[in-house]
Amino acid sequence: MAEKTYDSIVIGAGPGGMTAALYLSRSNSSVLMIDRGVYGGQMNNTAEIENYPGFDSILGPDLAEKMYQSSTQFGAEYAFGTVTKIEDHGATKTVVTDMDTYETKSVIIATGAQYKKLGVAGEEEFGGRGVSYCAVCDGAFFRNKHVIVVGGGDSAVEEGTYLAGLAEKVTVLHRRDKLRAQQILQDRAFANEKINFKWFTEVQEILGDDKKVTGVRVVDNQTQEVSEIAADGVFIYVGINPISEPFLDLGITNEQGWIETNESMATKVPGIYALGDVREKELRQVTTAVGDGAIAGQSAYGYLQSLGD
Ligand code: FAD
Ligand code: NAP
Repeated sequence: MAEKTYDSIVIGAGPGGMTAALYLSRSNSSVLMIDRGVYGGQMNNTAEIENYPGFDSILGPDLAEKMYQSSTQFGAEYAFGTVTKIEDHGATKTVVTDMDTYETKSVIIATGAQYKKLGVAGEEEFGGRGVSYCAVCDGAFFRNKHVIVVGGGDSAVEEGTYLAGLAEKVTVLHRRDKLRAQQILQDRAFANEKINFKWFTEVQEILGDDKKVTGVRVVDNQTQEVSEIAADGVFIYVGINPISEPFLDLGITNEQGWIETNESMATKVPGIYALGDVREKELRQVTTAVGDGAIAGQSAYGYLQSLGD
């Protein structure tokens, strides 16, 4: 027997989920956001956001706080919990968390994405002892030290630049000789004297002593030459995976686990929508998550109306 009932449940309170909740609650339907962590999602791991219109630059956690205030102003509620399953019973759905069970008419999946691991020796062993996936969380431990950043995308280059404001030196290791990061981020990093790049370089192992990271063993994938680089920390930014494991039974994901939707953010299960980074899509940003959230909220509202009372 389900304990609590809402017209809609939004799973995940990142920028996308919070926007969907705003739209639904403004339409006067009852809505609950459930998140397994603090609202804000990946924005909490982002130093500065300077591509969200209306702000020249804003700290990720500050934008998260502002979005939370907007998203709850028309009555949307927030609950803590990890969603483990959605049961589809047609006109009603059951959302199961590790703490509660909820009954609802429509569900919006906004669970986003999480960092990929590099999968090399030493990565697990030195997690929290020099290996990190979050510069904003851990960068301050590396003041005036040498840190390695692995990857060539927006995250590696932007967070590497942030780390250069704290560390003495930042070395970015990339497996090709071209970055995939946005040009403005590349230009900024190339102009920063504290950042240097090593191209065609792959990490084989993260090295350490009995306490913490001491460096990395790398291979030049052109010459096959193996060498070691001494460093105090290793920040890994090699991409993201969708957080869709609890929804695999619904048959709404593709082979890589991204959720497939149409332009209305509808999955192939009536009444279940998905938005933001967890969707199969081209551009994963705060702006696009927010855009998806508005569409998903409006679509779910239309669905609720079609059910009648
Ligand atoms: P997310 O922000 O990922 O939020 C998903 C939420 O769902 C999380 O709060 C999570 O706790 C919750 N959740 C997951 N699983 C469950 C579950 N089972 N039960 C309950 N809750 C769950 N974009 C920009 O536009 N500008 C930038 O400057 C920028 N910088 C970035 C820097 C870094 C280091 C990273 C990693 C990303 C950056 N991005 C940036 C990308 C941007 O943060 C994401 O595109 C955006 O946050 C996606 O929003 P979302 O709502 O889809 O999901
Ligand atoms: P990404 O764009 O997928 O880039 C991952 C990088 O890691 C690529 O350069 C890739 O190399 C490299 N890589 C992947 N697997 C590797 C491995 N096994 N070994 C070594 N290198 C490996 O991921 P991201 O940079 O984390 O970005 C994720 C999303 O968030 C993107 O949509 C991005 O636009 C968004 N984001 C936006 C901003 C912003 O707007 N300011 C900031 C951060 C993130 P190749 O290039 O050779 O494939």
